[in-house]
Amino acid sequence: MRAGRVGLGYDDTMDSWPLLQLNDARVVRDGKTILDIANLAVREGERIAILGPNGAGKSTLLKLLTRDILPLAGDTPAMLLRGREHWDLFEARKLFGVVSDSLQEDYDRKVEVTDAVMSGYFGSVGLYRRADVTPAMRDRVTALMAELEITRLAGQTMNVLSTGEARRVLIARALVFDPPTLVLDEPCDGLDANASYHFLRTLRALLKAGRGLVLITHHIEDIVPEVDRVIMLKNGRVFADGCKDEMLTDERLSALFEIPAQVESRGGVYRLW
Ligand code: ADP
Ligand code: MG
Repeated sequence: MRAGRVGLGYDDTMDSWPLLQLNDARVVRDGKTILDIANLAVREGERIAILGPNGAGKSTLLKLLTRDILPLAGDTPAMLLRGREHWDLFEARKLFGVVSDSLQEDYDRKVEVTDAVMSGYFGSVGLYRRADVTPAMRDRVTALMAELEITRLAGQTMNVLSTGEARRVLIARALVFDPPTLVLDEPCDGLDANASYHFLRTLRALLKAGRGLVLITHHIEDIVPEVDRVIMLKNGRVFADGCKDEMLTDERLSALFEIPAQVESRGGVYRLW
């Protein structure tokens, strides 16, 4: 069902709906509002960083997308997918390839790496319906494992991999349907300097094909040069939203993190001092 167009993010100039539109999306836990997004649209192909301190509500926002939690019911639909109020997870999975913390926790078990990637087709943790696997799926999984440089891990199980290796496997899993947008929650958490460096290189290569990105992070160092929009989240609300150059300034970062921050950028990479 199409929602009414007025105020719900329809772009008349582009004659299109955003990939994702949030309107008055609120999440309350223990009587406390932990997320309150008045209005936020993500368009296809956009490269966005969602930046904010710990507890800002970043992962909660992601959980709305994965339907791990539902927003409070309000007057307007809180979450539209390509303009549609009613959507199911299977559809969302084809539009967004998501790697969340909770997914990585779910995968800390004895699931063989190739099966873990394949399970993206079924939205399961592990592979239960081996009979439904087609040769085309198998080819795609092989190609993705090569792209993510994890071919050598085939035969191992997820629970013995390093954090960085497991994250690469889950990114391959998230890409099985070739979704237009990749969504990563704190992708460099738990990675040492070397693993972060190589991970960010791989991420940049994945964006070459024009794929969109929603990169959730509390480290500005993780914001790859391809990102052009930064949404700052603080206390569950959008604190600032705009193009990267205007967002990643001393003043805004100091206010966001409540520290005297000095930002430096070199070759498209930003750092805080
Ligand atoms: P971030 O990912 O930005 O660090 P989260 O979205 O995980 O932040 O959490 C936002 C806030 O909501 C935090 O203060 C957290 O303690 C709180 N919170 C998250 N989940 C729950 C829950 N299930 N019950 C109560 N509080 C929660
Ligand atoms: Mg988080």
